[in-house]
Amino acid sequence: MGEHDGARVVLATRNAGKLAELRDLLAEALPGADVERLVLDATTAGAPDVVEDGTSFAANALLKARAAAAATGLVAVADDSGLAVDVLGGAPGIFSARWSGRHGDDAANLRLLLDQLSDVPDAHRGAQFVCAAALVTPDGREHVETGTLPGALLREPVGDGGFGYDPVLRPDGLDRSCAELTREEKNAISHRGRAMRALLPHLLAALDHAAVPD
Ligand code: IMP
Repeated sequence: MGEHDGARVVLATRNAGKLAELRDLLAEALPGADVERLVLDATTAGAPDVVEDGTSFAANALLKARAAAAATGLVAVADDSGLAVDVLGGAPGIFSARWSGRHGDDAANLRLLLDQLSDVPDAHRGAQFVCAAALVTPDGREHVETGTLPGALLREPVGDGGFGYDPVLRPDGLDRSCAELTREEKNAISHRGRAMRALLPHLLAALDHAAVPD
């Protein structure tokens, strides 16, 4: 059992793809800890759905984490993330999950984006995943870290792994799409991995602070 098993953290998301990655990142960061017991998802913890009316990734991540911490009394971590395409001036950005008009319809969002960019030559298909990871404690301490994963947009989806736009982003320096990476490979370089690793010292401090002796 790890030293952090007395405290708990809620991951304020209902996105299964994000949850799997965030759990792996916490397991990597807390060797020996009982992550199953330590980490609750939004549904299990009773964290509310939030209207994401912020105008930046950081603002939306904070909205989600604040709501989860307030509703559960637990340390909360939330991520807001998306794809920023160079020739679209950073869009879909914070609208990535609902680019086609249907929230969370990954296939429709990805198809629309590829169609919009069909005439854009390879040299101008730069894009990056962006993630803001927010930590909020029940006593009101807040912290946000951002991570990016730069790459290029493919012309058709490739690979079965991951979620969202993973099949159409090929990270710089690799010859595979994000959907062809294992979760471990993706977490090692991803926007979410980078943001979470930067947030980690603050999370550990928050859990220590919140820890209840057995
Ligand atoms: P959010 O839940 O409002 O943060 O929306 C995030 C959206 O951005 C997802 O629905 C995906 O479409 C996209 N997205 C974020 N992170 C990733 C990723 O790691 N891979 C692929 N798509 C992602």
